[in-house]
Amino acid sequence: MANSSGEAEKSAGIFLNQLGYSPSGAKQATVRLSDATRREFQVRSVTQDDVVFKGRLGRTVSDAASGDQTSVADFSALRTTGVYRLQVDGLRGDPFPIAARPYAAALRQAMRGFYGQRCGCAVDLGGGYKHPVCHVEGAYHATSGKSGPIANHGGWHDAGDYGRYVVNSGISTGTLLWAWELYPQALRRLSLDIPESGGKLPDYLAEVRWNLEWMLSLQDADGGVWHKQTSEHFCGFIMPQDDKLTSYVIGTGETPYKSTCATADVAAVMAIAARCYGPYDAAFAQRCLAAARKGWTWAVAHPNVTFTNPPSISTGGYGDEHCGDEILWASAELWRTTGEPQYEKTFLSAMPANGAVLTITEPDWSNVAPMAYWTYVLAERRGDASAKERIREATLRAAGVLMERSRKNGYGNTLALTDYIWGSNAVAGNQSLLLLVADQLHADQAMRETALNNLHYIVGRNCLGVSWVTQLGVRPFEHPHHRPSAADGIAAPWPGLLSGGPNARGGDAVADQMQKRPPMWMWIDDQRAYSMNEIAINWNAPLVFLLAAANA
Ligand SMILES: [Zn+2]
Repeated sequence: MANSSGEAEKSAGIFLNQLGYSPSGAKQATVRLSDATRREFQVRSVTQDDVVFKGRLGRTVSDAASGDQTSVADFSALRTTGVYRLQVDGLRGDPFPIAARPYAAALRQAMRGFYGQRCGCAVDLGGGYKHPVCHVEGAYHATSGKSGPIANHGGWHDAGDYGRYVVNSGISTGTLLWAWELYPQALRRLSLDIPESGGKLPDYLAEVRWNLEWMLSLQDADGGVWHKQTSEHFCGFIMPQDDKLTSYVIGTGETPYKSTCATADVAAVMAIAARCYGPYDAAFAQRCLAAARKGWTWAVAHPNVTFTNPPSISTGGYGDEHCGDEILWASAELWRTTGEPQYEKTFLSAMPANGAVLTITEPDWSNVAPMAYWTYVLAERRGDASAKERIREATLRAAGVLMERSRKNGYGNTLALTDYIWGSNAVAGNQSLLLLVADQLHADQAMRETALNNLHYIVGRNCLGVSWVTQLGVRPFEHPHHRPSAADGIAAPWPGLLSGGPNARGGDAVADQMQKRPPMWMWIDDQRAYSMNEIAINWNAPLVFLLAAANA
């Protein structure tokens, strides 16, 4: 394992949020009992080295996710701002602050992570993290049904690679716009220092628009949307401006060339955008709404056009056999935006029948049904009372399961043992999203705190003692599977990017050679381990959502 993890083992014993806590927030550290035998803990001021709080560790937990015997040090009652260390039986934890707005800088950094992913323009995050304009020239691939060149229209590089994929853009952009609608107080004045800063849009919406413009550019005249724009295969670990492979608009290879999931995702996101951008740029909002309507009509007329990579293409597939949930999402968002009955009718007729159990889980790129249900229930429009009640009930039931898991987990996260998959940190982020939506339906401080437990887990309260966000916390990971971080000649990675996190299933050569341990340990800070340590826009998006809630 690389340096950061070795350090983590050395400091071990005490694990907490490395960004600290707000004075009024819950504050719980996990203590690994193999490293400590006494049950008393102290919180000491770093500047004075005096004891400001004493307590006893909680009950012993045999934590299945880590295999550790753990106990909780709860110091929520300490509300005085300052910088502290936790001490148990001679072990000293890392310093952490108790401060007003402890997650403000993290929110800005995670959102600026999207700016760093921009394609088609020069990027400069400061500190040497920059590149000139990239991937300006594109072309229609033969599989798209069209030919000839296409000019670049923006978008974010998807992940560690330089591809752009509509389906993954859909959930990412949708999640970010949802954060805007639910937590405007945290985002309206967020300063991102991007080229558009000072313009008519708030910085947050300006950054999101960069990707919306690209999504719009992949919509054909008939309303359908091509699946992705990538080279035919991945380039090496080089800077984006050095990638000279043609950036192709890629289709299904046969009529109608566009795909249902991509088209319905665009329809859903553009319907949200019409609401968000209306107050600032009515013309753009109208463009988004028109694109949403056209996309919806196309998707409903072509409900089953799935995508798999054509033979000559080996970039990400984002193939999804089921596009019903994408159409459900587009229908619900269009109804929320317009109130028109055709959209509501399509949504309601696709819901499980009355009497059938409605199950709601956290969303991900291939399952956007939760977003459909939640936008319907959160809409100010009256809607169908019984459908709304079923959605509310199913969401609160799912939130209850997550809260119970968090109580049982030694490190407080909401992950089931089976959730330690590729991108498990985003599963945790999306489970927080579920809890935060549930909190909108039935305000509950405990649900908000459980949602924050996943933030604590991601930035330090885990068995590795690592912060899984680059350049955040005292012990951040350092070697993401991310081409610019590898190729820029700077030791530290690009800031504000979330690692995929522990993955018990493996999926790359490095991961597959690791010794099998309980799932939370199945992570390595190695650039080659893409199944554990890649970054991706659909992982950063729920992180931004969670941080927006934490700052609201
Ligand atoms: Zn690019």
